[in-house]
Amino acid sequence: MPRLVRRIRAQYPRADDARVADFEREYRSVLGEILDHPQHFGRADILTLCEQQQALLRKHGFDDPYLDIKTRENAAALAALPAVLRELDAAEPQREVELLARGLLAGNLFDLGAAITAERYHNGSHDFWRSRAELPPRPWFIDDLDAWAVRWRTGAAYRHAAFFVDNAGWDICLGCLPLARWMVRRGTRVSLAANSHAALNDITATELVQLVSGEAVVDDEIARAVSEGWLRIVPTGSGTPLLDLKALSPQCVAALADADLVMLHGMGRSLESNRTAEFTCDVLRTAVVKDPLVAAHVGAKLMDCVFRFTPV
Ligand code: MG
Repeated sequence: MPRLVRRIRAQYPRADDARVADFEREYRSVLGEILDHPQHFGRADILTLCEQQQALLRKHGFDDPYLDIKTRENAAALAALPAVLRELDAAEPQREVELLARGLLAGNLFDLGAAITAERYHNGSHDFWRSRAELPPRPWFIDDLDAWAVRWRTGAAYRHAAFFVDNAGWDICLGCLPLARWMVRRGTRVSLAANSHAALNDITATELVQLVSGEAVVDDEIARAVSEGWLRIVPTGSGTPLLDLKALSPQCVAALADADLVMLHGMGRSLESNRTAEFTCDVLRTAVVKDPLVAAHVGAKLMDCVFRFTPV
């Protein structure tokens, strides 16, 4: 609560104290209600908490407390993208696959929803390259990177990857976009499925469209993939940092219906939700374990890496 209220005050400096206090009071009362009468909420789990928080933020006019941070971090990450792409293009194929995976995991450390990474961010000890270098050594907590690489090297290209992305900044720009570009090169159509509404520092579909089109675009290949329909942005209908696949918008379901690879990126979408979900196509789950409760729940240590590839 204190972290969220500080962020609201920073993003909405003109909001008067009473309005912020109203939000805080109502939020505490809803949390109390969930605690006392969980049955009133259908189910009481972390997704319920996220949904309630976002609904209250919107109700009180604080739709997107992380907007300024996302905008700033997107610009910084886009500026670093050409260097990341050059490094990937110069790497041997095996090394390239590993660099892409490490970029995805390091990118995911830009997360203002977890105390450990939020603290790093606010301390200024926030650097993509260093984070990537300091990832735990392989094998990771769950490490299917070799199987993933073999699948791409020896199998037919996937037709269509439904890539559920997570955070703004490094995560989308230096983790997800380079991997999407790599998959498109191999003949796979990629749909980047992003939240329709703001949640924490997650990228929204609207923001993502701005990142890959128009003046912002810094890579011709990505721009071409977008204009030729190989790389698409699909709004999920969601506005939480977790993903309820039963609640995807009909448009999203229709757009992803022929996907033969599902990618669930980030702790919220691949561990806190959908960890035990079963699919009728191949699935890649990628995450860094950034929360002590989640770590205890899955038997991992804080900052452990998950690269979990589950072929059908
Ligand atoms: Mg997130």
